[in-house]
This record gives sequence, structure tokens and C-alpha cells, in this order.
Amino acid sequence: MSNRQPCSRCGTTRDIEIVERVEQVTIKGKEVSFNAHYSRCLTCGDEFEAPGQLDENLEAAREAYALLYEAPSPADLVALRTRYGASQKAFGAILGFGELTMNSYEKGAPPGPANRLLLKLAADPCTFKAMYDINSGRIGAIQRRRIEESEGVRSALRWSGLGALSGCLTPIQREKIEACAERNDRTIPEQVAIYVGAASFQDYSRLYIEARWSDETTTELPKTVVQPNHSQGAA
Ligand SMILES: [Zn+2]
Repeated sequence: MSNRQPCSRCGTTRDIEIVERVEQVTIKGKEVSFNAHYSRCLTCGDEFEAPGQLDENLEAAREAYALLYEAPSPADLVALRTRYGASQKAFGAILGFGELTMNSYEKGAPPGPANRLLLKLAADPCTFKAMYDINSGRIGAIQRRRIEESEGVRSALRWSGLGALSGCLTPIQREKIEACAERNDRTIPEQVAIYVGAASFQDYSRLYIEARWSDETTTELPKTVVQPNHSQGAA
């Protein structure tokens, strides 16, 4: 390939050729190689980065790094998909991929940047559930039932009915409740009810009571929650 570019050594526009070679760069402490492109002046032999080539080379280096260190492995992808009980075809339909795309990723073809982002987002159950709600019409009834009954999708529903309370808690508090519920094989509402009833968790109790006043979505809580057994102070 040949075109014309200004050559600074010649001081004028010259015919140039594009040269490609493998280069090493260090990104975030890791060495990666990528195909860099330069322009070479056909008159003086000087090599330089034409406008756009610098950005392209940086992007190629970033992409090489991402494919090596940020792309999900085939095993990661199988684990992600099976967590939601989805076939390759159904999972692809939910994320908006082509029919055979998941199959090729699970065989080792690396996802490009856009699909990598979607796969990363899909690892969050609530986001996956939102994608599913949009695209569930594209998959069959049997697959839909499997997905809706999967551990992954059910985990997106655990705070269902407790949206107002959940919004008042810090991520650490939410994680603590989730971990405790899981350890004791309780639902999130059951676990919250136990915390609220315990004197050592007055913060949760206070938050819950405020949440009840401000949002009707918490009315699915078990009745024990509204009668905490510790003092709430004078009325
Ligand atoms: Zn030149």
C-alpha cells in the first residue's frame, strides 16, 4: 500500500509505504506485543507515524493487552452462561449476539471490545436480568423457564420488595446481609427481619422503619419486622 504524506526530513510531500512490525510495550506492568504500523518515505527512507497512526498503534497495544489480560477465558464464559441456566443460543440472544457467537467464544475465539463489555455487564445478575427482560421474546418457553429458575437470575431478585431498604444500606451492609442469608439458607427478607429484630442491629431497624414510611415496596417483609423486640425510644 502506498500513498502520499508530508515527510519532515524531506520537507515536502512524498510517496510513502506503510510498514508493519511487531512491537513490545509494557502496559500496567505487563509486556504485550502488537502489530504497529508506520509510514516510510520512499525517497529518504525515514520512518514516522502519520496522522492517525499514533492513535491506531496505541489502540492496537491496548487491545492486545485486553485480549491477553482482560478477556474472559472460555471456562469463565461457560461458568457465566450456565449460572443463568442458558443455552449458548439463548445466552447470545439475550446479549444481542449472533446465533453462533457464544459457541465460538467458548471454543476460544476472543470477544471484541463491544461484546467483552456486554459479557462483563452480564456478570452482574441485575444487569443480566434487565437484558433478559428486554430480549426474552427472542427465546423459547423451555429456555425461558430454565433461565428464570436459575441461581443467577434468582439472585437478581433477592432484594425484591426491599428496594427502599437496600438503597439505604452501604454495599458492605448489603453484602453482610447476603452472606449471612446464604450461610443460614434464608431469603434476604427473612435475614433482614432477624437483623431488625435484634438489639445489636438498631441501625438496620431505624433504616427499615424509615424505608417503610417512604416507600410501599417494603410491605412484603414478614410481619415480625414491624415489631422489633428492642426499644425504639419514647413515642
Ligand atoms: Zn523523506
